[in-house]
Amino acid sequence: MNIFQLLAGEDDHPALVAPEGSTLTYKQLRENVVELVSQLNSFGLQRGERIAIAMSNGVPMVLSFLAAALCGTAAPLNPKYKQEEFSFYYEDTQAKALITLPDVPEAAIAAATPDMIHIHAQVTENGTLNFELVKPASGQGKSLGNQEFPDSNDVAMILHTSGTTSRPKRVPIRHRNLIASANNIIGAYSLSPADTTLCLMPLFHIHGLVGCMLATLASGGTLVIPDGFNALSFWKLVETYKPTWYSAAPTMHQTILARASRNEAIIKANRFRFIRSSSAPLAPVIIEQMEATLNAPVLESYSMTEAAHLMATNPLPPKVRKPGTVGYGFGVEVGIMDEDGNLVPQGSLGEVVVKGPNVIDGYENNPQANATAFVNGWFRTGDQGTLDAEGYLRLTGRIKELINRGGEKISPLEVDDILLRHPAVAEALAFAVPHKSLGEDIHAAVVLKGETSEKELLAYCASLLADFKVPNQIHILDELPRGATGKLQRLNMAKLLKL
Ligand code: ATP
Ligand code: MG
Repeated sequence: MNIFQLLAGEDDHPALVAPEGSTLTYKQLRENVVELVSQLNSFGLQRGERIAIAMSNGVPMVLSFLAAALCGTAAPLNPKYKQEEFSFYYEDTQAKALITLPDVPEAAIAAATPDMIHIHAQVTENGTLNFELVKPASGQGKSLGNQEFPDSNDVAMILHTSGTTSRPKRVPIRHRNLIASANNIIGAYSLSPADTTLCLMPLFHIHGLVGCMLATLASGGTLVIPDGFNALSFWKLVETYKPTWYSAAPTMHQTILARASRNEAIIKANRFRFIRSSSAPLAPVIIEQMEATLNAPVLESYSMTEAAHLMATNPLPPKVRKPGTVGYGFGVEVGIMDEDGNLVPQGSLGEVVVKGPNVIDGYENNPQANATAFVNGWFRTGDQGTLDAEGYLRLTGRIKELINRGGEKISPLEVDDILLRHPAVAEALAFAVPHKSLGEDIHAAVVLKGETSEKELLAYCASLLADFKVPNQIHILDELPRGATGKLQRLNMAKLLKL
């Protein structure tokens, strides 16, 4: 088995839609992928070899990814990386080749090592893709005949974690992990050929690759792929393609929500079956606003690179959604573990652990991380939470992000949520700052959407939070700093604000 078997949609059904015009059916998709794999073989690439791809979202990215994962191992990279970052990822993944569009990001080329080959992905007149070898490597480039497709144990792609809590870790994801994950997502959201997905997440992270792209293609549905996300084109795309759902990270949901009132007619005309949120916490107050404004159930879910995306999700109605939780395990066992590696009873707080066919067996080349992350058959997520009597998981934050104020442990998420409930606050982030006697003190940063002051916000927090949780200072900023995947940089805040 490999991910090619997932691409089993009806011959004539649209699989990939580029908003600029072209549509590929499932038959065209399958034929094109087979042809592209054969072209990669003819450039001398084969199983086990790592093929970097530096492309923004679009049909060429999807086809290049599938071809790379079915020839060797795909290593999708953010096309906006700087030269140093490309160098790190090429070296770390041992990339043998680089696939780009003809208008190549310069830094991607400048960083390439002499023995890497360079391939251009060219869109043909009928919308399919063709590979062209533009730089054969010295002494390399022996053409291979068609090779066998990989099997379920082969590594389909190499990704890196987002690097929110440490240097990005290299994650090898096997065909069997992807197949399990795609099927879990299809099951969780009842995806079918009748669905049209609007792909908003970048296709160089797990959320976009599996949560949007692979799950849709494996369900026989249609994937509409704009070249990126922006709030203006979002509403136009909804009007044109009538997507039945989309999945996005919390920051994007907030951007969409901010323009919703100007697009009431589109909302009325197109009722989403559901809207999905993942990758970072979505405050319950935002869920309330989204459901009221967008008139669709909002399903918050819990995902990570090491689990090939989905771990837990809130379910579709009529099953119960519980805002403030990430729902329950879907095809994944979820437990809570104490520091000694024992599972704790329901209701107790501890580290979230998961187990399932979608979860990786280990990081590559990182025995230290493996020794701490894999315990008694479970994978330790680094997140803290509790399970309720019905198995819904409430995340209370990342263990590394918990604030220890003189021995009192504070979940910064709780403070964020209180601040977000203030009518003048658009974004909020509580964080630790070093403190001489307490070890750590708590501050918060906010972005405002109305009139207020630090003094008023402090008094507001004091009226709703126990004293030890009330921030010592609240910084009013124009924007909150984010990492490459759009995640808030809680652990870096004190340094960034020079505190
Ligand atoms: P690194 O592991 O390098 O520090 P990262 O954990 O941010 O980076 P990802 O694999 O992209 O890398 O993200 C997984 C993490 O994202 C989870 O462990 C969790 O902390 C967070 N996350 C995902 N979904 C949610 C959610 N719905 N609510 C809260 N946190 C979430
Ligand atoms: Mg992580």
